[in-house]
Amino acid sequence: MEAREALLARVSAADGTTEIRDPATGEVIGKVTYGTPEDVKAAVDTAAAAQPAWAALSDEQRVAFLNRAADTIEEHAEELAYAIVREQGKPINGLGARYEVAGCVGWLRATAATPLPTEVLVDDETNHAELHYRPIGVVGAITPWNWPLIIATWQIAPSLRMGNTVVQKPSEYTTLCGLALVDVLNEVLPEGVLTAVTGAGDVGEALVRDKRVGKVMFTGSVKTGMKVVEESAGNLSRLTLELGGNDAGVVLPDVDPDKVAEGLFYGAFINNGQTCAALKRLYVPDAIYDRVIDSLAAFTATMPTGNGLDENTALGPLQNQMQWNVVNRLVEDARQRGARVVMGGDPDTSQPGFFYPKTLIADIDDDAPLVQEEQFGPVLPIIRYTDLEQAIAWANGVDVGLGASVWSADRDKAKEIAARLEAGTVWINGHGGIHPMVPFGGAKHSGYGLEFGVEGLKSVSVPQVISG
Ligand code: NAD
Repeated sequence: MEAREALLARVSAADGTTEIRDPATGEVIGKVTYGTPEDVKAAVDTAAAAQPAWAALSDEQRVAFLNRAADTIEEHAEELAYAIVREQGKPINGLGARYEVAGCVGWLRATAATPLPTEVLVDDETNHAELHYRPIGVVGAITPWNWPLIIATWQIAPSLRMGNTVVQKPSEYTTLCGLALVDVLNEVLPEGVLTAVTGAGDVGEALVRDKRVGKVMFTGSVKTGMKVVEESAGNLSRLTLELGGNDAGVVLPDVDPDKVAEGLFYGAFINNGQTCAALKRLYVPDAIYDRVIDSLAAFTATMPTGNGLDENTALGPLQNQMQWNVVNRLVEDARQRGARVVMGGDPDTSQPGFFYPKTLIADIDDDAPLVQEEQFGPVLPIIRYTDLEQAIAWANGVDVGLGASVWSADRDKAKEIAARLEAGTVWINGHGGIHPMVPFGGAKHSGYGLEFGVEGLKSVSVPQVISG
């Protein structure tokens, strides 16, 4: 066995009842036995028992633990990256698995370095009032399959920093990655502070319904997010909901198509399009419509799709059959409506793996399902517009609002348009860039609550005023 395979082998259960397969080859890479609602109860027992001692540590002590957690991820970086490639499918190189692991390290360290001091609100002869941020207790952290390590880290790091303990439920599609992360972090964390439970929606539901879980950090689809609201209602649990997106990019007529092609490509195709805040529909004015498509197609053609273990691969397979079917359905529907397939769109189903070709679709109407629904795959519909007001209306014409972007040589004009887009983040001349100190969250049905930075720490604590 190669050294980098050891972690994956360790978290795989020899007698597991479900085989986990590599999305690039179909090869069995491990086994798991999914947990049950009873396992959730046991995990929350553990987390609840460990929480008072964890909360009693000083902030400096918890900061030291987070930095040690970052160290241990660095020590296991190649094993973790390997696990991501084999189970999730993204490439090892580029904006892929090593990048995801490096992000976990960066976010742990940034979360450790972010202070949330007590605020003195009033201090005069009549009153003294202070605002403190207290732990909530046990946090239930539920993650999707697209960025399995970093999204879990975004939930775990601030929760621990603020004195909570965490029960993490990875997506059933990326169970081994979830277990690998928790295994590595538990090399340094005190016992019981971080526990994993595996399984599908029934296990997630049991975690949300447990009365001792005071906060749910949920990242996933809009549909499941709405269920989490219902499931948590009886507990009045605090929620952070990071849900789906269908991000629009609005290109203005003053851009140089060659200059924006690379940014548009990465915005749309990062992680093969399986990214919440990827560019999922692009609005381009008549005047430069053909040139933008030509430049983007030329750049896209240079990016190889293949097995993520190959260091030269830029895009891997889709992670699972369900997502492959969604992508294929939306592209076939677009073709039948008369849209133009500029490139891609013809998957080779004779090969193993959930590969789907890089696909650009032009001359498509805004009301096509490929534009209206979240495709979550390597496909970008490019919609022509004549009137900028119409493009803005189309961009705002969906229920979700996670990210959006404006592309222009004129920054002030771009900012004006950005202010009118209904999204939690609007990027200018880029799409999807995030930073540990910059809050991230959705508008409309993309959810509520913020992650990252000081706002992220506040969202996993209970404010307490001491007055007098
Ligand atoms: P999903 O909603 O199907 O699953 C997410 C998680 O919820 C999984 O762990 C799943 O087992 C669990 N779950 C399922 N039913 C549940 C229930 N009833 N109660 C509690 N938990 C339950 O989402 P997915 O397909 O894994 O992920 C893709 C979606 O996630 C996309 O829509 C994407 O845009 C979104 N996403 C959003 C962000 C963000 O930050 N806003 C980030 C990544 C992904």
